[in-house]
Amino acid sequence: MVETLKGTGPSGFLEFGQNLLVVDYGKIYQDGTPVGFLHEDGLMQGLSEPLGVWQGLKTIEELPGCVFRGIDRRGLQLELPGSSSGPTGGLTYNKQSFNVIFGRIATQDHRILGFMTDEGELQFYDDRFNGTLRKMDEVSQLSTIFQGIKSNGQPWQLNYQRPLHRPDKSYWENEIIRYFEDFDRVTGPQKKYVCETMRLFACTGLLQVVRKQEGSAGLGNVRHGASGATGVRSGKVNLDRDEFEKEVGFYKQFGASMVVPRHKPLIEVRINLVVAHEYGHQLEFCLSQAAQGIISEAYEKRRKLCDQIHPLPDGYEGGAELVQPTQLDERVFVSGYARSSMNEYWAESVAAFAVPQSRILLAEVDPEMHELLVGIVKEPEKMLNFNLHESILTLQTSLRVGGELPENPLTI
Ligand SMILES: [Zn+2]
Repeated sequence: MVETLKGTGPSGFLEFGQNLLVVDYGKIYQDGTPVGFLHEDGLMQGLSEPLGVWQGLKTIEELPGCVFRGIDRRGLQLELPGSSSGPTGGLTYNKQSFNVIFGRIATQDHRILGFMTDEGELQFYDDRFNGTLRKMDEVSQLSTIFQGIKSNGQPWQLNYQRPLHRPDKSYWENEIIRYFEDFDRVTGPQKKYVCETMRLFACTGLLQVVRKQEGSAGLGNVRHGASGATGVRSGKVNLDRDEFEKEVGFYKQFGASMVVPRHKPLIEVRINLVVAHEYGHQLEFCLSQAAQGIISEAYEKRRKLCDQIHPLPDGYEGGAELVQPTQLDERVFVSGYARSSMNEYWAESVAAFAVPQSRILLAEVDPEMHELLVGIVKEPEKMLNFNLHESILTLQTSLRVGGELPENPLTI
């Protein structure tokens, strides 16, 4: 049985009574002879002397005085049983099932993810930062159900649900519903539009962090109601209802982007992602000064280039990039509207990045903005304001454990 286990356990030394046993990727040896297997979460199996013959699983705590010191699969120091103790039982975190063994939270295949206390406090390892432990709080903790016993043996149940969240919906759907206030009042296709175009930002925790900082979005009667159209900070987003309905229709019919005739014979590229666009304006206020500077510079560079290659035609009042139909591939901006100002350039880039179809376009037309946005999603601490770092990193750690945030968020 021991031989069939993959070498995924910890490495180091196991002290038991007078014996000092070697542990190599989980396999326990006495003088070169395998005598059992130790998992990272402190479960042992297939034991023989001197550990006592035992085929099933046993916790290290059940072998009095037994101590392991070494490293886990990440190469981080690991001591078992360790100084902390906590509950034992089954944990469901955002519908993902885990085991808790004396406070150690582990996957079904015995990888240790973090710790739980008898008070219900959770800490998870952040693998992006060398296994830094991040403590969950009311912002980051996902729905938590525990059933088992406390460290003193007392039976214990815990059921934590996020405030205002609907238990039948996933975290990301709930976040979109919280953000888009009129969600329950729009049609099925409109709901689908909002979900599809905001999912990436919801799953990565960026929607929640930005909503908390800037505010939510709602439908109103604001002609050209872009909150950022003037570059003036207003926090909450007001979307014009007619414009929203129009965009949903465009998206359904033409996809994320389309070409419209403007000032004949010229054409303009349009991105049909108004919710993500307005969200982009909010996100801009959450960026560090350095990040905003990079965007400004990139915009100025493109604007100059655009004025050279595609100068605005006489008699055209607007500020969008217009090109000859044959020049479509030589356009400078991902959409015509992106030319109007640095703020719109950014908001249009965020919008284009929101869904795979136009994300590819952005990568082709404006690789620099594409890369910047990849950075925001994967390494938000490099782009966001310093005061948001802790909340986004803790939240992303939680979302990874909760199965909301995939290893590569760009698969969303
Ligand atoms: Zn705008």
